[in-house]
Amino acid sequence: MSFFKTLEVTETTDKKSADWSNAEHVRCLIIGSGPAGYTAAIYAARANLKPVLYQGMEAGGQLTTTTEVENFPGYPHGVTGPVLMEDIKAQAERFGTDVRWGEVTEADLTQRPFKLLADGAPILADSLIIATGATAKYLGIESENKFKGAGVSACATCDGFFYRDKVVAVVGGGDTAAEEATYLAGLASKVYLIVRKPYLRASKAMQERVIRTSNVEVLYEHVTKEITGTNVVTGVTLTKRQGETDEQDVKLAIDGFFVAIGHKPNSDIFAKYLNMDEIGYIKTVPGTAKTNVPGVFAAGDVQDSTYRQAITAAGSGCMAALDAERFLAE
Ligand SMILES: Cc1cc2nc3c(=O)[nH]c(=O)nc-3n(C[C@H](O)[C@H](O)[C@H](O)COP(=O)(O)OP(=O)(O)OC[C@H]3O[C@@H](n4cnc5c(N)ncnc54)[C@H](O)[C@@H]3O)c2cc1C
Repeated sequence: MSFFKTLEVTETTDKKSADWSNAEHVRCLIIGSGPAGYTAAIYAARANLKPVLYQGMEAGGQLTTTTEVENFPGYPHGVTGPVLMEDIKAQAERFGTDVRWGEVTEADLTQRPFKLLADGAPILADSLIIATGATAKYLGIESENKFKGAGVSACATCDGFFYRDKVVAVVGGGDTAAEEATYLAGLASKVYLIVRKPYLRASKAMQERVIRTSNVEVLYEHVTKEITGTNVVTGVTLTKRQGETDEQDVKLAIDGFFVAIGHKPNSDIFAKYLNMDEIGYIKTVPGTAKTNVPGVFAAGDVQDSTYRQAITAAGSGCMAALDAERFLAE
């Protein structure tokens, strides 16, 4: 039984009211410790909203899984993902953000203050900033895991620069894969686009862009079997399907392998209350971080299927905190 169902069942009992009367009540609750969450915290703390931030299972967010970040402003010589995130966290704490370990597992956004379950305890929030990010989908093969950060990437904008004049493969058949392949084609000498189906699922316009790009070769009806190499990626073995039963292995020499089969926004617990697209990206009012529920704001990758960069996440975190501050002031 869910936490809120438990509360509903005990609604008439004293225990239920005692639970909420003892619950901590905060002005601004931030969920997520990536660039969006910590940047929201910097602005919220400086506006005296006394933000409480829950880090979740991946403290520091996606950037803690990467080594070199070369495109975040302010670091002319680059910075590692973990160091960058420690720096932003320190900045948020310097202004008094209460950063806590723990996950928000349930939410009731039907009325204010919003009711949430954070790290197992009930918490009431006058305003809520959701910065829970999105998780890249991977193929799930063993060798992919082995080479993450050593030739396997899920972000061409982030890592493409390291493959200038090299040979890369992109796996996927949708718009993201087509976009990643054409982006990489501007940097790499050759791009293989590995597509499971006999056609691309990408929009007509994106398909045409792929076909017009001379250094992209589309390999239809190929499935990735194994990524190969010693310390870094040097090749990939594909299985080519021929007809119903016939299969043949194809080996390619590559330097980088980009997975572009989509992302999953971490928004499930809010699905009942917030407007989302069919994938689960939270919809915000254009030009703001406002969701359809007044007092609930969304920032970063959880509401951005287009840019998915640390700097855009940080920018929208700033917007969310400013919107929350104005909301509370009203
Ligand atoms: C390998 C890799 C390399 C990258 N390299 C670059 C790069 O070089 N440059 C660049 O600009 N971008 C890069 N990116 C993209 C960048 O990391 C993301 O765009 C950015 O981190 C998004 O920030 P965010 O704050 O929205 O979410 P995230 O960084 O995804 O953080 C989400 C946070 O939410 C927390 N969370 C989730 N659910 C809950 C919950 N229920 N309760 C509490 N907390 C929760 C998680 O623990 C996490 O802390 C890279 C991404 C990856 C995966």
